[in-house]
Amino acid sequence: MKRTFTLGTVRGIPVGLHWSVLLIMVLIAEILARSVLPAADPGASADARWAVAAATSALFVLSLAAHEFAHALVARRHGVRVGSITLWVLGGIAELDDDPPTARADLHIAGVGPLTSAAAAAVFAAAWTAGSALGAPIIVTASLSWLAATNALIALFNLLPGAPLDGGRVLRALLWRRQGDRAGATRTAQHAGLTLGRVMIGAGLLTLLVNWFSGLWLAVVGWFILSSARAEERWTDLRQAARGLRVADIMTPDPDHGWS
Ligand SMILES: [Zn+2]
Repeated sequence: MKRTFTLGTVRGIPVGLHWSVLLIMVLIAEILARSVLPAADPGASADARWAVAAATSALFVLSLAAHEFAHALVARRHGVRVGSITLWVLGGIAELDDDPPTARADLHIAGVGPLTSAAAAAVFAAAWTAGSALGAPIIVTASLSWLAATNALIALFNLLPGAPLDGGRVLRALLWRRQGDRAGATRTAQHAGLTLGRVMIGAGLLTLLVNWFSGLWLAVVGWFILSSARAEERWTDLRQAARGLRVADIMTPDPDHGWS
């Protein structure tokens, strides 16, 4: 994933955007302004809807960046060098230049991402509750609830136990700790990723019959997981230990029209 724009360097870590993240920002703003917000408050003006939708889309990308930063900062605390963070259409990627030194480090680096998204969900849910109590405009509270739901989904989704998702890393760390065999644990997590990818492609193709958007998204994400797990497997076979390790995150763009 080559970053198209470099936004800057935060704590010595280059943060970039792949052009495809702009697509997702536009798509999210579009869904919110044209469908979610009018449903929440049919009386809101188009200008107000678009303004709130654009701000929500930006907050969403920021919460995704926070998830990646959490991976990067915890990795660095464990002595793992971090190459960069890139946000793209399916989520984010933190490039780690070294392997985690211990199973414990592996667990912490992987686990902190979903924890951060869960924390973001809690913050947005609290803001939503406070906003509702204080009588904030409905389109604002609807956006806050959308951000809470989306971050909660990102936390859950990335915990699916297959490499390259965070859940796959967590699985590897737990097996590594229990069996003391890093290579074996890595292989198991990769096989889980292959299976997960195939199941999602299959589920996506079936979902196409009911909802083309969700079906297509699910199939594309499944394909990404499958091909990443395959690439990692080849890399591991080759080197016995993968370098340039990636923590990849996947998101759902639209929980209200989401996976169901
Ligand atoms: Zn993550």
